[in-house]
Order: sequence, then structure tokens, then C-alpha cells
Amino acid sequence: MSVFNYEKDADGIVTVTMDMTGPVNAMNEEYRTAMAETVDRLEQEEGLTGVVFASAKKTFFAGGDLNELLAAKKGDESQFMDMLENTKSVLRRLEKLPVPVAAAINGAALGGGFELCLCCNYRVAWDNRSVQLGLPEVTLGLLPGGGGVVRMVNMLGLQKALPYLVEGRKVAPAKALAEGMIHATVKTPEELVPAAKTWILENRDNEEAAVQPWDRKGHRIPGGGANDPRNAQFLMGAPAMLRQQTRGLLPAPEKILDCAIEAARLDLDTALTVESRGLAYLVTTPQAKNMISTFFFGMNRVNGGASRPQGVDKYTTRKVGILGAGMMGQGIAYASAMAGIEVVLKDISQEAADKGKAYTDKLLSKRVERGRMSEDQKADVLGMILPTADDKALQGCDLIIEAVFENIELKHQITRDLEGYLAEGGVWGSNTSTLPITQLAEASADPEKFIGIHFFSPVDKMPLVEIIMGEKTSDETLARAFDYTQQIKKTPIVVNDSLGFFTSRTFGTYLDEGVRLLKAGAHPVQIDNLGKAIGMPVGPLAVHDEVSLELTRKVAETQMAMGVAGKWGEQDDMAEVVSTLIGEYGRGGRHHGGGFYEYSEDGSKATWPKLYELYYREDVAIPEQDMKDRMLFRQVIESLKCLETGVLRSVDDGNIGSIMGIGAPVWTGGFIQFVNTYGPQRFVDRCNELAEQYGERFRPPQIALEKAASGELFA
Ligand code: NAD
Repeated sequence: MSVFNYEKDADGIVTVTMDMTGPVNAMNEEYRTAMAETVDRLEQEEGLTGVVFASAKKTFFAGGDLNELLAAKKGDESQFMDMLENTKSVLRRLEKLPVPVAAAINGAALGGGFELCLCCNYRVAWDNRSVQLGLPEVTLGLLPGGGGVVRMVNMLGLQKALPYLVEGRKVAPAKALAEGMIHATVKTPEELVPAAKTWILENRDNEEAAVQPWDRKGHRIPGGGANDPRNAQFLMGAPAMLRQQTRGLLPAPEKILDCAIEAARLDLDTALTVESRGLAYLVTTPQAKNMISTFFFGMNRVNGGASRPQGVDKYTTRKVGILGAGMMGQGIAYASAMAGIEVVLKDISQEAADKGKAYTDKLLSKRVERGRMSEDQKADVLGMILPTADDKALQGCDLIIEAVFENIELKHQITRDLEGYLAEGGVWGSNTSTLPITQLAEASADPEKFIGIHFFSPVDKMPLVEIIMGEKTSDETLARAFDYTQQIKKTPIVVNDSLGFFTSRTFGTYLDEGVRLLKAGAHPVQIDNLGKAIGMPVGPLAVHDEVSLELTRKVAETQMAMGVAGKWGEQDDMAEVVSTLIGEYGRGGRHHGGGFYEYSEDGSKATWPKLYELYYREDVAIPEQDMKDRMLFRQVIESLKCLETGVLRSVDDGNIGSIMGIGAPVWTGGFIQFVNTYGPQRFVDRCNELAEQYGERFRPPQIALEKAASGELFA
């Protein structure tokens, strides 16, 4: 029995219901067999009036089999190419059937799933939030190689199709309908197959209905082909614009642009082959391996709860207390209220608490303005937040998160004063960014119920939460913090307590290396440009200005007071530069009137001229590759040390945490995954080279030596 259920009705319409082994339909060996057999049969079918493709799963079709794609290695290209061409020729035969074919889209149809839909003459989708359509392959370092590039260009035109291909935009059915990507929507999933059949019957005498637009005589690509003057200007600028976005680090968008232009220049079948070649090339690149490993498999494991203790029941937080309605507290209040959790937002005065709530009001008003929320919904969310200066309002909270000033005595004091208000079994979370959780928990009567819940700023936008286990934190507490994080739709990583935890500690090495390069005489503009050239969102000096040199100074002071200064390596250059800039020139960073940069009223900025006089040395020429590797390797080495010493409890947490919390370049798949495709031995060798030349901080950690010796990868 095939996994494609084949059923012909009295009208001669065959419904093919895809029900593959496992939770989803995907383009793997089982699919290839089932689809080939189905098309063979359809071609032979007597009295056929039309075909409907439907799914027995919750999603319509999930796309390519990523395990298969991940396994493809250099040298496999021609085999991969054969397999791809084979798959595509079957789809081509499907779209050339002499009868109309419809897709009844009951759930997500992404990637290969949407490519299958594009081979149908008619696409009708259930108008529901769970249904997403599009070609997101680029986000995994791939291209839509099942005909997606070629058919989208032929259907929508080059300029309109490109954002969907190059950015991997996913759309809801209503938008897809407006864009011409589908033909109709229905209100319930039950209406799908009947709607598809009605369309087939209405068009049984319409020969054109069975012919794809691109196979019709005289087909013209909307907006013109690649040589059309209407596209000339666009095509002249597009590669440069793309290069600016990818910084040359991501081959997939470039290859997609290339294939799309070819699709607008060549006949359909030749263009399909060019597209296959594009995917056969991309699938073996390290970027694709990194992105598939981390953004798909790693992300699924993290969101699937791999770091959550097993055997503890899922917990739903109903009432959360947030102490401190400042920058962080107000953001946490917003995220919690949006998830339908009752929030008590407490500050030292009613006025300060009200101000914190006003922040949610502002964010919600923007949503209403953009038509993403109704006034009623806004009122409901706002109604979840109680701003107060009264401790008693905290009574019965399942969770209290403190986000007061970064001061250990203050944090100890409020823990002692307020933890009694927690409901039975309630949990206390601290949003500290630097103070050790174990030490903070000393003030608690119940340190098992004390945990770090580290948010990132701005909370409404940043998708990550770093959960920190104190020495005594219980698994039950971790499970609750984990569940709360998921409840507010953030991604939790779990780390063990350590100075700077994982994210701040690793990010700190980027700032540190930037300052070291400056101190060594490198050109400040070059430092920041090369930081961006490796794929970091912002250069190390520019981002240091944003987080503020003042903060660096404060953290150093706190660490000094706690007797842990320099725990992760000497920081003399950093201390000296920061003290010179702040102490002698009052340059504490952007919000303190300027730092490494000067900021104009109009929003522009320029390097602070004195920086050249203080540090730049024309006679110093550090090779660019060394500068780039120094900024990248410091962060990778620090991540590996975190893994080696158990600060990181899993490779996935390290990869996801570095991408979502630190801004690690996406092409690396995270700071640990980077080593896997760079090659552990090559990594060790390069670390040693850098160590010889620039200092012991580049020595490879033991854990990297072990991987190099065993030939294993980090997993
Ligand atoms: P903030 O100065 O903006 O806000 C702190 C708020 O706490 C103020 O509104 C203050 O009035 C209030 N407060 C002080 N004492 C209080 C008390 N006893 N009871 C109730 N409220 C009190 O500071 P922030 O940037 O929101 O940082 C708060 C915490 O979050 C700090 O521990 C900080 O290290 C941490 N953190 C900050 C960031 C960031 O980027 N700003 C990121 C992660 C974590």
C-alpha cells in the first residue's frame, strides 16, 4: 500500500491524500517512490477528469528531508543532482497531465511543500493562522531546488518573486491570495477538497485550466524577462545590494539571485536544471551544514525541551510579580501580559510603576496603528498589568522576577523582604546580568526555588532567555522557569552559574579583543569594519559604545569588590582604555554623550578624532585575516571553555545562545558549530598560530584538542 492514498470518485476526480510514515510528509526516498508511482498511475488512468492533492497530516507538506540534505557531502554533487533532476521530472510530468490538478492546502506548505503546490494548476488554502506558505530554504543556506525559484519567477515576475526567494518570506493564506501565489481560500479545512473538486468540475471543458501559465503559448513573465529594459536598472543594482546585506558570507542568497535571473532568461526546462545545479552546489557548503544543524535540528531540540528536566509536570504561570519597572522590568511585563499572564509590576513609587506600564501601552498602540491588534485586545493586555508600589499586591505570585538595580545588597534585601509573598511552591527569578546566582540565593530562605532568568534588551524584540542554575536550584524550579519562558514565547537556554554566565562572558571577549586591537595601534574604522566582515551585527567598538563603557567599568568594579576580577584572563588593556576614555575624557559611551564615537543630533556618528592620537599607529599592520580571526576565535574559544567547564550544559544551548543572544554570525551556525565545519584539527592549528603571535588567550581548550584527536564533531 502506498503512503499516497489514491481515490477516484464518480466524477472521475482522483484525490491523492499524502500520509507518509512519521509525523509529516517530506521529500525523501519514500516520497520519491510514492510520487513516481502516483504520476505513473495518473498518466494511465482512464476517464480522469482531475486530481486533488491533499494531506492526512496537520501540515500539508513539510519540504525537503533535512537529514538527507545534511548528509550530502562534497563529492556527492553529481549523485545529488541526478536525484534532484529525477524528482523534478516527476513533478514536471504531474503539471503536464492533460487534466486540471489542484492542491488542497490544509496546513503549512513550506519549501518542497509549496513547490509541490506550484506544480498544481489550482491552489486553495484553509484561511487559518496555522497555514503558512513560502520558500524559506534560504534561511537554511539552501535554495528552493524543486522548481520553486523558476516557477515563482514565471508566476510573479522577477522583482516580485525575489523577496520570497532571497529572504525566504513566509505568508499567511490571505496574503498569498493577494499576491497571486494561491487562487482561493476557504473557512474550514473540510471545505478544501470539495472546493478543489468544484473548481475542477467547473473547468472540465476549459483546456487552459490544465495548462500551467508558463506552458501556455506565448507565455510572458510578468514584468518582463531578464533582458527587458524594465528590469535593467533593478538588475544592475541587485547584486551589489545583496552583497551589502550578506557581506559575501552567505552563498545561498547570491545563488538564488543568480538562478532567478536565469529563470527569467532561459526556457523553463533549462532553467530548472540550472536551479538544480545551484542547490547541488549549496547543499555541500559549510554554511548550509551550519545553518541546518543549528537553526533546524538544534532549534528543534532546544524548543522541544532537551534542557528541561524530564519527569516534572508542565507548569502554567498565572501570576507573575516583576520588581523594578525600569528598562528591563517594563519589557518583561509586556512580554508576560502579551502571553495572558497576570502581572504585578512593582517599583518604589506608584509613578515609577505607572511609567513602566505606559511602556506596554506605547508598544500596543503601535500594534493597533499597524492593524495587528484591535482596541479591545489592547485593553485586555493592558488590563493584565497592575502597576503598584505596594508589596502586598505580590501575594500569591507563582513567580517573582526581580529587575531592580544591579546591586547585590539591594537584591539580597528585596529577596528577604518579598519572597514570602510567593504562592506555595512559587519560584524567585533574578534578571541580574552579572551577579552570581548562587551568591544572590544566599539571602533566600529557599535557595532551591531561586534561579537566574536573564533577559536581553530590548525584551520585546530579543527572542532569547538565559536561565541560570544556582548551586542549589532544584530541577522543579528549572522546569518552572523553562515553562514560563516558553509561555511568553521566548527561547530558553539553560546554563550553570558562572561569572558572566555564558552570553555576557563570551560577548565580553569580543569587546575585549576590539579594545586590544585598538591598543595595539590598529585603525579604529578597520576594527569595526572587520568585526562586521566576519558577520557580527556591529563592530566591537561601536557595540561597546552602545552597551556603554560605563557598564564595563561598573562590572569591573563589582568584580574587583567580589575578588573575582580577571577571572577569565587579564584585562589590562581594557581597564586602561576604559579608564582613559572615561577618566580623562568623560567618554562613557553613547548614552553618556559619546565614547569611541561622536554622535550628532541628526543620528549620524563619526570616530572620536582623539582616538587616532591616543592609539592609532600608522606603522602597525596587523593582517586583516588575523584581525578577523582574533575577533571570531576569542568568542569561539570562550564558548568552548564554557562547554568544557559545564557552564554550558549542551552544544545546542551554546549555538542557539550565541546566535540569538550574542549576535554570532548566522553562517557559523553558532560559536560551537563553527568548529565542526572549520574542522577541529584546523581550528586547533589556527588557535596555536594565533597564540604564538598574539598571546596565550588563543590556546585551544582541551575539549577542542580532544575533538581534533578523535575526529568527532561537537554535537
Ligand atoms: P533600570 O535602572 O532601568 O531599572 C531598575 C528599576 O528598579 C528602577 O525603575 C528602580 O526604580 C527600580 N527599583 C529600585 N529599587 C527597587 C525596589 N526596592 N523595589 C522595586 N523597584 C526598585 O535598570 P535595568 O536596566 O532595567 O536593569 C535591571 C536589572 O536587569 C539589573 O539587574 C540589570 O543588571 C539587569 N539587566 C539589564 C540589562 C540591560 O540591558 N539593561 C540586560 C539584562 C539584565
